[in-house]
Amino acid sequence: MKLTFDKEAFTKDLKTLISINSINGNCGEKSENAPLGKGINDAIEAFLEIGRRFGFKTKNLGGYCGWIEMGEGEKMLGIIAHTDTVETGDGWTYPALRCTETEDGYFGRGVIDDKGPALLALYAMKAICDSKINLDKRVRLIIGGDEESGGCKCIARYKETEEIPSISFSPDADYPVVFGEKGLLRVKISGKETSAPSDFKFEGGTVVNIVPDEARAIIDGKEYFEKGKAAHGSLPENGENAILKLAEKIIPMIKDSTFARLMSLTTAQSMNIDIKDEITVLSINPSVIYADSQKCELSYDIRYPITADGETVIENIKKAAQEKGLAAEIYFHEKPLYVPTDSHLVSTLSSIYKEHTGDDTMPMAIGGGTYAKSFKNCVAFGVMFPDQPSTMHAPDEFWSHKDVATNFDILTDAIIKL
Ligand SMILES: [Zn+2]
Repeated sequence: MKLTFDKEAFTKDLKTLISINSINGNCGEKSENAPLGKGINDAIEAFLEIGRRFGFKTKNLGGYCGWIEMGEGEKMLGIIAHTDTVETGDGWTYPALRCTETEDGYFGRGVIDDKGPALLALYAMKAICDSKINLDKRVRLIIGGDEESGGCKCIARYKETEEIPSISFSPDADYPVVFGEKGLLRVKISGKETSAPSDFKFEGGTVVNIVPDEARAIIDGKEYFEKGKAAHGSLPENGENAILKLAEKIIPMIKDSTFARLMSLTTAQSMNIDIKDEITVLSINPSVIYADSQKCELSYDIRYPITADGETVIENIKKAAQEKGLAAEIYFHEKPLYVPTDSHLVSTLSSIYKEHTGDDTMPMAIGGGTYAKSFKNCVAFGVMFPDQPSTMHAPDEFWSHKDVATNFDILTDAIIKL
């Protein structure tokens, strides 16, 4: 069924929303009612105002998060979106904090990540409401204010007091449907150094979820350097790890050191976590290291299969470290997301996607983690099409009129059929 999209009103509201600076961590004063900054609370309020104009119920959860709800019924479908954005950065042709409409589409920070999709979902709800289609459920658009920090204080606050949707999807990633996201572990393994030369130093990597592309070392007065290739930490096979390359050269010089023992724990096999399921396989990215004559510590980004038990993985890591006289600290753990492909949620969304695009790309599992990890029975669905160049987090963030229109049809269908 094709419903009418009120594009003119959508454009006007999008312009209002984009002109509110809601950059995560840099959007004005923090206060009791605006704990994430004034701009984020203003943006949440602007969304709720549109919701009220449409005649929907709304609630602001203390400036962390807001929701807009339509319909009646026991069942509740959730749509999870966010209104905070990343920094504007340099290199823009168009003003970053204003929405510019051209013949092709919209430019501005947040047009596709994620203010635009959140607003489009609201317009889809309104169109369904106006069409008098009978829904047997409530539809709740949840608008978080803290997605981009990775901290998701918004969803944490939501979970404290609000009803969890029975099923939900999040238009904050890619099509077709992301039904699985691996579990994520951030681990630090460390130990005291006792047998390295006094001038020994080994450093590499800066960010735990990136494959390190540089590493340097000093030993016995000589300097060493290796270059690798950076890649996202969830796909270490796409990069070249400079730490591992350089360690291979250094280890023979200090075979009995703690450093050498630490470096023997850089593969899944060595930690006894070499596991996979039918869909996904464990990945390991040893990414940030500091070592000198006193101590050494190495941080890892580890993604385990969607059906695996995280506690067993953790146990094995700790045991492997212990056996080498080292200590392992798990400083971040996010459980996997897995909604079976034959579930109502995934099968309905895949067939809607296929119907509107003609593309029969199968639902996918990824290294993680999208906003969909917020709830059980939640998947990432859109809004980026597979062939679309990504401008999320980049200068001249863009959403084309054509893709907005297709997404409107997909969203209305998803809300009706789920
Ligand atoms: Zn986003």
